[in-house]
Amino acid sequence: MKARIEQVRARFPEEGIEALVVTGAANRRYLSGFTGSAGTLLITPDEALLFTDFRYVEQATMQAPDFQVVRYDDPYKTLGERLQALAGRRVGIEAEHVTVAEMAKLREAAHVEWVPTRMVVEKVRAIKDASELALIQAAVDLADRCFEYILPQLKPGVTEREVAWRMEKFMRENGAEALAFATIVASGPNGALPHARPTDRPLAAGEFVTLDFGCVWKGYCSDMTRTVFLGEPTAKHRELYELVLRAQQAGVAAVRPGVSGREVDAVSRGIIAQAGYGDAFGHGLGHGLGLEVHEEIPRLSTRGETVLAPGMVTSVEPGVYLPGWGGIRIEDLVVVTEDGCQILTKSPKELVCLPV
Ligand code: ZN
Ligand code: ZN
Repeated sequence: MKARIEQVRARFPEEGIEALVVTGAANRRYLSGFTGSAGTLLITPDEALLFTDFRYVEQATMQAPDFQVVRYDDPYKTLGERLQALAGRRVGIEAEHVTVAEMAKLREAAHVEWVPTRMVVEKVRAIKDASELALIQAAVDLADRCFEYILPQLKPGVTEREVAWRMEKFMRENGAEALAFATIVASGPNGALPHARPTDRPLAAGEFVTLDFGCVWKGYCSDMTRTVFLGEPTAKHRELYELVLRAQQAGVAAVRPGVSGREVDAVSRGIIAQAGYGDAFGHGLGHGLGLEVHEEIPRLSTRGETVLAPGMVTSVEPGVYLPGWGGIRIEDLVVVTEDGCQILTKSPKELVCLPV
């Protein structure tokens, strides 16, 4: 964790700050190792403090050896006391992770010049180290196993909700500490809703089923999507599936260092648009992932400013959604390497047509 703290300190001059207060839960965990639900970090040029309450003092002391643990009863008062030494100085506060009410209390408690910062820790978090990549791969591997497990169970009559439950149970029973997000099982016309919630609708022959799911393994997330067909697909089903697959593979092939998220998005989007389905792909191509299932860096979208760098992890997930008809999405996770990317997700992507 020492190296991570140093990387954050190295960003202070650029941010125009002399210290940083970290309140984002994933940032707090990333920098300290502390997994509790309450706590604040204060990082100064020569100190690293972790403020938490009575419930967590012992846990924090064990999990965060690089931090001096400070117990509080009133978090604002205690932080304010520690910030007296920095009175009048510029102290960063994570704009994305503080409420307006909390900010008012901080202003009252500490007479420093609060500087709203964005993405200071997230920029460091975006580059995954080997230990993080190993945990992401473990989470991905379990999701791959879950897909293999559920495939033979996708049959006409079983409901979306039942399929989702079996998948969730499988991941939890095989070591996942949690789900990365609520499992999506969307059949037939429901597949046209990119973030459909599983319903009591039974799967039926002659339809696609989209499964979008992931788990958490020692804090790190996975996220994958496969769309399979029940029975014999029509020419249109095949044609659209092949289109999304082509867009997905071209997107993956475009991921490499030095390329922006927007450029990668444009590759997949261009293929879908050229086939006349541009309006049917209304979301971004991919998102970063790590301690959180949706991380801002990188973002593969029409607004994706980030330039890809080795160690970044992103999803590549184009889709086509036709209201009333259904939808197709295919999603892999990839890690940017020195000369391209490596696909973490191993499940096959060619169209699977299940017997009915
Ligand atoms: Zn997903
Ligand atoms: Zn995703």
